[in-house]
Amino acid sequence: MEAERHLTLDPWDAEYVVDLSNVVRDRRLCDDREANLQRFLELLTALVTHTGDRSVSVYAVTDRSLLRHSALTARERSTLHRWFRRRLIEVRPRADDRILELADTAGLLVISDDRYMGDYRAYPWIPGNRDRFFRQLPGPGGIGVGIVPRTMPTPAEWEISRKEEQDRLVEARMYDRRTGTGARRELLTRLWRCPTPDCPMFGPDPVGGQPPPVFDGAVVRCPTHRERMADLGPAPSRIQLKVRVDGVSQRRFMLVAGTPMVVGRAPTGPGVALTGPMLDEAALSRISREHVELAWDGSRISVRDLSRNGTWLRPDSPVSPVSPEDRAEAAPREVPARRIPPGRTWTLRRGQVVVLCDGVELVASGRRYVFDAEPGVPAQQSKVAAEATEVTEFHRPGRR
Ligand SMILES: [Zn+2]
Repeated sequence: MEAERHLTLDPWDAEYVVDLSNVVRDRRLCDDREANLQRFLELLTALVTHTGDRSVSVYAVTDRSLLRHSALTARERSTLHRWFRRRLIEVRPRADDRILELADTAGLLVISDDRYMGDYRAYPWIPGNRDRFFRQLPGPGGIGVGIVPRTMPTPAEWEISRKEEQDRLVEARMYDRRTGTGARRELLTRLWRCPTPDCPMFGPDPVGGQPPPVFDGAVVRCPTHRERMADLGPAPSRIQLKVRVDGVSQRRFMLVAGTPMVVGRAPTGPGVALTGPMLDEAALSRISREHVELAWDGSRISVRDLSRNGTWLRPDSPVSPVSPEDRAEAAPREVPARRIPPGRTWTLRRGQVVVLCDGVELVASGRRYVFDAEPGVPAQQSKVAAEATEVTEFHRPGRR
């Protein structure tokens, strides 16, 4: 599998935050080597199966020491360095704080075997939590890697205090611990520049999204270089869309406010090209080179049909994955779809999907709305329930 297409440092794009080091150093997996990058690759495969989403995106964070771990092969180490340089993974002096911060501010689901006991005071939603944490484990028959939901322990007070004390000693030499002030949307919705030349994460060319910066209580800093960053102003509003084929998300893209995008077999301008092997011949023959134009204005998605065969809107009702062989036999959709009059621009309502042809749909991700919550409303109350539902639905086996 190609790992890189699942890696992102864009919290709007990711569903999961993975404790990379925790997985790579998990000696129950794959073999007995002290560190093995294959474990992480197998985890990504497991995640595709678990979610039923071939475009599933993870935000991977690792502590810096993993990049020079002597148990890794030279090739594995150079892969990690390449991922870091290409802004595909985040490297921190210590990963735990960052992982929980991402879970807290962006509503990401956490994959790790760590208990995070030293962080329970800063994140009181963790103890006893049942729907935001997953752990890796050996796959069936000890082959590969699996993933299962976990319930976080509810420790006694003395256990928390002891762990906190340990963590403080470890960290005293590194940096001040954040005090836990909740989601900082005002920092997540701005663009930042790190003064270190060639900073992979906050360099001069912020294509796509930036990872969240670090706020130490006084100034905003680069998570890697710890330098104070310059505020470049508000980041353009974006929304994530997924391409769903026969009920399975196959890829995703970001729609940026003010930059319309054309979706089709071969759009000429900025756009999303839908091609094989994601689509079979039958689907490709129904989709135009420029099929539909989408635009995001910061609050609404508008849809303009450019196609020969038509574009429809229908209420979303996730269809269980159907294998290509079974597709012909699959029950016809009961939900009625309405055709968009050719050339007209229509507004996509929340909960609607755009149908390009039977079985091929564009779906707005619910992730964008994580940042829509009213200030003061904790993300985990408003949005995480929706996230968890989405995972469960993708995971539901069988057919409707
Ligand atoms: Zn930097």
